Order: sequence, then structure tokens, then C-alpha cells
Amino acid sequence: MISPALPAEADGPSSDGPVRTCIGCRGRAPRRDLLRTVVGTDEDGRVAVLPDPRGVAAGRGAHLHPTTACYDLAVRRKAFPRALRRAAGAPLESAPVRQYLDRVTTDTDRPTGAGRLTRNWSSSS
Ligand SMILES: [Zn+2]
Repeated sequence: MISPALPAEADGPSSDGPVRTCIGCRGRAPRRDLLRTVVGTDEDGRVAVLPDPRGVAAGRGAHLHPTTACYDLAVRRKAFPRALRRAAGAPLESAPVRQYLDRVTTDTDRPTGAGRLTRNWSSSS
């Protein structure tokens, strides 16, 4: 018997909650692990992509892993205007998202605990 049922693509209420696709790496992840972005206006009143970490803004959203790597991928793919249904070729500033990510992501270049080697020479008495 052939079932027309599709693989689990539905994002209905499952045990893990809704799943969304990252517009950067195209990976799927629970919505709560992704940063929602929406079209709004920046502080200069221009149309821009804004982070919506609480997922409360109205309108169409695009989801992204909260990493600069996925952000860069999304920018290179022009995924923001596509996902947010902006006119093709229209400039869509997404710097506010980048600034948000710079703030929330931990700096991987920072040397952590360098020179903090502790030796346990005296473990025996
Ligand atoms: Zn991603």
C-alpha cells in the first residue's frame, strides 16, 4: 500500500516543537535554537533586517542560527531578501542582525585561560 504521507516536514506541535530551516546553512533546527529576523526599519528609518530574538514581531520572519558564520552565508546567498519576500535586487540592509550577533556570540578568537597550566606533581605523598 502506498501512502501519500510525506516525511515529517510538518512543523506542527511535535515533541520538540516547531522546526525551522536556517537560511544560512540550510540546516534544520528547533525554532528556539534559531534567531528570528524580520523586516523593519533601523534607527535611520531605512528598511532593514532586524533581529527578533523573542519572536514577537509581526510579519514574515526568517530564521537563522545565531552565529556570524550562518549570517555570512545568508548574506552571500542573498537569503534575507528571498526569505523575507523583498523585491529581487532591492537592497536590504542586514547590519543590525550582524551587530546583534557580534554582541551575543562568544568571541572564539579570545585566548581562554592561556598560561593557566596547572601541574599536579604532588599528588602522592
Ligand atoms: Zn545555520
